[in-house]
Amino acid sequence: MTSSEPQRKNYLEKIKAHAHEVMSYIPHYIEPDKRNHFSTLIQGLQLCQIELEMQNTELIDSYQNIKKSRDHFQSLYDNAPIGYACLDHEGRIIRANQTLAELFGQNYHDVINAYLVNFIDVRDQGKLTARYKAFFKHPAKKEISLKIKGRQKYISMTAREYSLAEDGHQDRLLLLAIVDISKLRQNEKQLTLAKKVFHNIQEGIIVTDHKCRIAMVNQGFTELTGYSDKDVIGQTPAILKSDRQEDSFYQKMWDQLKKTGTWHGEVWNRKKNGQLYVQWMSIYAVFSEHEDVENYIGIFNDITEKKLTEERILQLAHFDSLTGLPNRALFYDRLDHALSGAKRNNTRVALLFLDLDNFKQVNDSQGHQAGDELLCQVAKRLSDSVRASDSVARLGGDEFVLLLEGMKNSSDAEKEAQLVADKVLKILAHPFRIRNEIFSISTSIGIATSPEHGDSADDLLKHADMAMYLAKEKGRDCHRFFNRNLLKRQQAKEELKQELNSAAVNDDFALHYQPRLALTNQQVVGCEALIRWQHPQKGLQLPKHFIGLAEESGRIRQLGEWALAEACRQLALWHRNGASHLSVSVNLAAQQLHDNQLPKFIARQLDLHRLPPAALELEITETAMLHDREQIKFILDQIADMGVTISLDDFGSGYSSLSHIKNFPVKVIKIDQSFIRGVTSSPNDQSIIHACVALAKPLGMKTVAEGVETEEQINLLKNMGCDYIQGYYVAKPLPAKDMSQFLDISLVES
Ligand code: C2E
Ligand code: MG
Ligand code: MG
Repeated sequence: MTSSEPQRKNYLEKIKAHAHEVMSYIPHYIEPDKRNHFSTLIQGLQLCQIELEMQNTELIDSYQNIKKSRDHFQSLYDNAPIGYACLDHEGRIIRANQTLAELFGQNYHDVINAYLVNFIDVRDQGKLTARYKAFFKHPAKKEISLKIKGRQKYISMTAREYSLAEDGHQDRLLLLAIVDISKLRQNEKQLTLAKKVFHNIQEGIIVTDHKCRIAMVNQGFTELTGYSDKDVIGQTPAILKSDRQEDSFYQKMWDQLKKTGTWHGEVWNRKKNGQLYVQWMSIYAVFSEHEDVENYIGIFNDITEKKLTEERILQLAHFDSLTGLPNRALFYDRLDHALSGAKRNNTRVALLFLDLDNFKQVNDSQGHQAGDELLCQVAKRLSDSVRASDSVARLGGDEFVLLLEGMKNSSDAEKEAQLVADKVLKILAHPFRIRNEIFSISTSIGIATSPEHGDSADDLLKHADMAMYLAKEKGRDCHRFFNRNLLKRQQAKEELKQELNSAAVNDDFALHYQPRLALTNQQVVGCEALIRWQHPQKGLQLPKHFIGLAEESGRIRQLGEWALAEACRQLALWHRNGASHLSVSVNLAAQQLHDNQLPKFIARQLDLHRLPPAALELEITETAMLHDREQIKFILDQIADMGVTISLDDFGSGYSSLSHIKNFPVKVIKIDQSFIRGVTSSPNDQSIIHACVALAKPLGMKTVAEGVETEEQINLLKNMGCDYIQGYYVAKPLPAKDMSQFLDISLVES
C-alpha cells in the first residue's frame, strides 16, 4: 500500500532527527578504532537519508501523476455524453456525473442522495419502479425509456450491477448509463406522422428511385388508380400512361425536372380498369448530399370531375345552350380577335347581322318548343353554309351573326359579304319542317365591314344592327349595308326620344278624331281618337314618328292614359251637346294591357265624365296580345264586364288567329286597310274580307273596314256585309274643333 505524501515527509524528518541524535551521542574522545565504526554508521545513515529523499521525490512525482490522471478521468466521467449514476438498493443516487444532473436540469448536489424516481415524469414513475427490481435480476438486458419530469426530454436507461466496497457500500449497486433520446424520439414522432400522412392523404403519392422505378405508393394512389402497391413496385410510372399526350409533352416535363427539380401540370393517365382520367401532378426530385438524384416523388389528384365541370361552365359561358353556337360573349371575343388580326395583316372583316322576320309568329302561334326547334334548324343551316374559317353565333332570340375574315380590300369584303348574305337569304327561305308542319320564314340582314364601318367590336355590331333595321324597313327578306346616314337617323331618333320625354302631355299632344260610318244608314256612329304631337319645331307629328319611341322609353303608359282621359272628356262634351249616340274608340298600347290598374282607371274616367260604358271602345292589336295572354285576358275581361267594347285593330295584318278572337272578349273586328286598298282589284283581298265578315257574324261581332278611300270600295264592302267604314272617303282624322263642325255640333258647352 502506498503512503501519502505528508506521511512520507514525516518519516524523513524522523530519520534526520535520529541521525542527529546518534551524532550527538558520539563522544569526542572516541578511540580511533571505534571512530571508523561510527563514521561508517553515519555515512550509512546519510546514504539512507539521500535514498529516502530521492524516493520521496519519486513518490511526490508519481502522486502528482496519479492525481492528474484521476482529475482527467473525473472530468471525462463528468462530461461524458452519457449520464452515469450509481443507485443503491432503494433507488437512491449514490454517485452521478455532471451530465446526468444536466439531463435532469438539476444541480449536481441536488442529485446526489436523491431518489431517481423523483426526476422522472409522474406518468413514467410506475414504469420505472416496476422495472427497477428487474434491473437487479438481469441488469445488462434491460433498457427502459422514460420522460424527465418537467422537461421535454426523454432518456433511455441501461443498467449493470456494480459494487463500491471501499465506500462502505457492501450491497449490490446498479450502475446506470442514461442516454438523451429526445432528438431520436422527435425524429421517430415525425417519422410516424409522415407515415400517417403518406398513407392517409387523399392524394396519390408515388416514390421512385433515381431510375424511375416505383419504390413506394400510398393508399391514395391505389384508390385513385386501382393499382395496388404489389402491382406497381419495381415498374415505372409509364404503366399509367394513356397515350393521350404526345412524347414531346413528357420530354418537356423531364427537361424541366432536370433543370429545376420540380414539375407541375395536368397529365392524362389510365386507371387499371382502362378508364381515362386527368390528374394534377407535382413531381419533386430528391437529391443526395452529393447532389445526385436519389428519388422522385410524384403527388397527384384526380381532377377529371373538376375539369368536366370547368368545361361545362365554359360551355355555358361561351355557347348558346339551345343551338350550341357560340354566344354573344364568345362572339365578342372572336370579333375582337378578328379585328386586331385584320389591323395587323391589313385585311378586312365583314359582319352580317341576321334577324328572322317572322320568327315571333311561329313562336307565338306554335309554342316555344316549335320556336326553339326552328332556331336550332336555322343554326344548323347557317353553320353548314359558311366556311370553316367563318364564325356563326347566336346573340339571343332570333338574332344571329356571321363573321367573315381575311378579305384583302373593302371591295372584296363587300362582294364576299353580299355573296354570303344572298346565300343565307336563299338557304333560310327554304321551308322548315317542324313536327310535321311546314313553316316559311324570311330574314333581314344588316352588313358592316371593318375598318370602313367601324374598327371596334361594339361599333361594328351596332352598325350591322342598324343596317339590319334598314333591311326591315325596306320590306324585310333582304340585306342592307350600313351607311353613315343611318347614324344621323339614329342620332335624330335619340334626340326625338329626349324631346318626347320632356314634352308636356297637356300642351304638346292632341287627339284627332276620325268618324266611323254605319254602312246601313250612312250615319256617323262614332269616331276613333288618334294621337298627334305638336312638335315645337317640326310641327304636327303622326304616331308613327313617336309611338314606338314612347314605347321604348316607357312613356307610352302616361300618353295612353292621357289619350283615354282626353277622349272621354271630349265625348262627354259632344254627348252633352246633343250627340249622345256617339261612341269613341281609343287605341291601347301593348304595355297598357299589362297594367293591372287599367280597369280602375277606365272606370274612374267613365264615372268622372258620366259616360255610359258602351260609348267607349278600346282598340287592341293582335301583336299586343301575344305575351302573357292570361294576364291580358284577366284585364280585358274586367273592362268588357263593365260594358266597354273591345275591338281588334288591323285584323289580318298580324296572325289573324281565330283563337285571339275566341279567347278574348272582342266585339268588333277592324279589317286592316291593306285589304281594303286591294278590295277592288285583288280577289285575294276580297276573299280575306269575305272571310273576316263570315267569321265575325256568327260570333255576333261587328266589322269595321279601315282606310276606305273610294266609293267603289264602299259599294263592295256594303255588298260583302261589312257593318262600318272608316277612312279618308268619309273624313281624315280631324282636330276636335273640325270634328264638331263635321258632326254639326257645337264644341262649347250648350
Ligand atoms: P290605327 O289605329 O289603325 O289607325 C288608323 C290609321 O290609318 C291612322 O293613322 C289613320 O290616320 C290612318 N287612316 C285612316 N283612314 C285612312 C285612309 O283612308 N287612308 C290611309 N292611307 N290612312 C288612313 P295614324 O293616325 O297615323 O295612326 C297610326 C297608328 O298609330 C294607329 O293605327 C294606331 O295604331 C296608332 N295610334 C294612334 N293613336 C294612338 C294612341 O292614342 N295610342 C296608341 N297606343 N296608338 C295610337
Ligand atoms: Mg286604331
Ligand atoms: Mg287600324
